[in-house]
Amino acid sequence: MLKNDQLAEWDRENFFHPSTHLAQFARGDLGNRIISGGDGLYIEDRDGTRLMDAFAGLYCVNIGYGRQEVAEAIAKQAKELAYYHSYVGHGTEASITLAKMIIDRAPANMSKVYFGLSGSDANETNIKLVWYYNNVLDRPKKKKIISRWRGYHGSGLMTGSLTGLELFHNKFDLPLSQVVHTDAPYYFRRADTGQSEADFVKQCADSLEALIAREGADSIAAFIGEPVLGTGGIVPPPAGYWKAIQAVLKKHDILLIADEVVTGFGRLGSMFGSDHYDIEPDIITIAKGLTSAYAPLSGSIVSNKVWKVLEEGTDKLGPIGHGWTYSAHPIGAAAGVANLKLIDDLKLVDNARDTGTYFNQGLKAALDDISIVGDVRGEGILAAIEFVKDRDTREFFDPALKVGPQVAAALLERSKVIGRAMPQGDILGFAPPLCMTRAEADMIIEAARDAIQSVA
Ligand code: PLP
Repeated sequence: MLKNDQLAEWDRENFFHPSTHLAQFARGDLGNRIISGGDGLYIEDRDGTRLMDAFAGLYCVNIGYGRQEVAEAIAKQAKELAYYHSYVGHGTEASITLAKMIIDRAPANMSKVYFGLSGSDANETNIKLVWYYNNVLDRPKKKKIISRWRGYHGSGLMTGSLTGLELFHNKFDLPLSQVVHTDAPYYFRRADTGQSEADFVKQCADSLEALIAREGADSIAAFIGEPVLGTGGIVPPPAGYWKAIQAVLKKHDILLIADEVVTGFGRLGSMFGSDHYDIEPDIITIAKGLTSAYAPLSGSIVSNKVWKVLEEGTDKLGPIGHGWTYSAHPIGAAAGVANLKLIDDLKLVDNARDTGTYFNQGLKAALDDISIVGDVRGEGILAAIEFVKDRDTREFFDPALKVGPQVAAALLERSKVIGRAMPQGDILGFAPPLCMTRAEADMIIEAARDAIQSVA
């Protein structure tokens, strides 16, 4: 086996890490952590240190680490048939079975799944499908996409544009001109502290109406949003938000894309976030929880309404000229089939609801008396703690203090628990695997309290 020092040297010399401050990495400020194993909520590095991963990788390892059922399904598929493409009607038992399993679980109005590799490419697909859809319908001007500030939809050119976070725009000359942003449903950060949730929801819907009026409804193709804002701060929507937004979109014949890369397959305690909030999307983006990240795979689930236009459109415009070499990759599909079976067998959606509620209530109760804790929020097995300088005014800390990253570092150092300092604002996020037990939830809560107190 290679020595750790050797690997660390090769790492610095050869590996361009994503989302990384390259100079800090080169100086050794970020260290090297070489992960070598995992089981349940835990990962282990090459020094033998065990860490509790309360963020499930990048909120993706939903069944937990080390599930042999999925590993064996992957190995079996690789031995039988590692690859064949899915162009012009080709498929494999795994990809066809997985498509059926997804449609069986998806909201009732959903029709077909287009497979990709990542959440980003699935969202790129969605935008192209929406454009194709409007071309079929002879609406060549109806092409702009509305996204929300603080939304996260990927790191591609279009998806980076849809993302409403400065870090993903700055220095990349994004967003592209076809994207317009509207307000985030971020009630905690409302301008007027006296405003009721209902009034805030109305304000979000009115602001969307105003944007549509400014741009012209005939220029807007779709609205994309995560049922719960994820990377932008883990922000569940205020009650009634989706109903109000959907009414506006329907009025202007604007398609709704529900980006369920994080919320799909159980994280909110329902199979889909769309079920959870009574959303009726035209397209749903899935990735992460589809395979629990045991292999890369994503999908765009299209509704009956969209499918009908696409299918008829091909007679008019010709075949859909959009495909990835690895669309519906058999190994990813085999992982997906085994993963979805395991989610059913272990009743992980129920556990996400029950243990997630226990976790969220426990966090709230345990952190309530700490002065820098401004907000504790969450849904299912998804939670966030937002830090503030002043509880009454919700004043931000100076970003240079990096309070969120400091708490995440303290959590890791003091308790060997991984949480995520979210990229914008002083927010610590938790998204443990859906198999978390109550005892593990208690450990995370205790570790969070200890870390926050050490920084406060
Ligand atoms: N959409 C959402 C809601 C996400 O959270 C992410 C990733 O975190 C993506 C899209 C992009 O997925 P990927 O990183 O697989 O490209």
